[in-house]
Amino acid sequence: MGLLDGKVALITGGSRGQGRAHAVTCAREGADVIIVDITKPTTDVPYTLATAEDHAETVRQVEALDRRIIAADADVRDQAALDAAVARGVAEFGHIDILIANAGIWTQAPFWELTDQQWDEMIGVNLTGVWKSAKAVAPHMIERKSGSIVITSSANGIEPGQNYAHYVSAKHGVIGLMKNIALELAPYGIRCNSINPGAIRTPMTDHQGAWDMFAGHEGGTEAEMIEGGYHYALLRNTTWLEPQAIADTALYLNSHLAANVTGVTIPVDAGHLLIPGVNANPVRE
Ligand code: NAD
Repeated sequence: MGLLDGKVALITGGSRGQGRAHAVTCAREGADVIIVDITKPTTDVPYTLATAEDHAETVRQVEALDRRIIAADADVRDQAALDAAVARGVAEFGHIDILIANAGIWTQAPFWELTDQQWDEMIGVNLTGVWKSAKAVAPHMIERKSGSIVITSSANGIEPGQNYAHYVSAKHGVIGLMKNIALELAPYGIRCNSINPGAIRTPMTDHQGAWDMFAGHEGGTEAEMIEGGYHYALLRNTTWLEPQAIADTALYLNSHLAANVTGVTIPVDAGHLLIPGVNANPVRE
């Protein structure tokens, strides 16, 4: 028996990275899945966003678990497209029990050099897109007087980050949004919580800009980024985390195990936020 037997989960940004881990974990635990993602570039980021192949691979992995999946090509900034994905999900699967608002982008520049376009795209996807996703499922969940919403914030929803003030602002913003959704939907028996991932190995963090940030200099390498991960984490023998760490936490929040948990945010960062400065002596064995 799975923790999500008979449920239906809608996951934004569901075709790869953490989103795919959420989709496969939900399916493994007995849920049917709706993924919403883009398959063509729509924002200016220094890495590739999801492709049609990513979409297809998540579909393959969910179906291999004998669960049903709808894959919608939709931008989280497009309310009509989100509403259509919800309507299709309800028509085909009967109901939607879970929203994991996970879609996001990451770009870097000192705050005084961010362009209007970078700012607007970041707030549009990482903050407004979460509001629109929650808005798309809320009427249906209210009608059924049941549901669970999990929002992906970041450790940067709690602490700042060098050269991405727009990302930090959006990730702080979704925690406020999460609390308000939890407040307003509690009377309907609907819960809302968020997760603060630390350093997670996904395509978003697998490019030169991320390597440089963790290496502490330009021309950094992937190996230096992994080394930097030991200094980011506090827990013994821990560097970058796999997406499954976040999927496991969302699974808990979306299951009956968290039936009385709403309005909280959970860091999953190997102790990073506890570090009062730098972890000068990372233990790796
Ligand atoms: P990722 O880039 O692999 O996944 C993000 C997904 O969102 C991609 O599939 C992408 O195509 C999709 N997406 C982007 N813009 C979209 C849009 N406008 N509409 C619909 N889908 C869109 O990266 P990830 O690490 O899996 O990111 C998942 C979430 O985790 C993001 O919200 C990210 O900010 C957050 N996060 C990541 C890290 C990390 O270290 N990777 C740390 C903290 C928080």
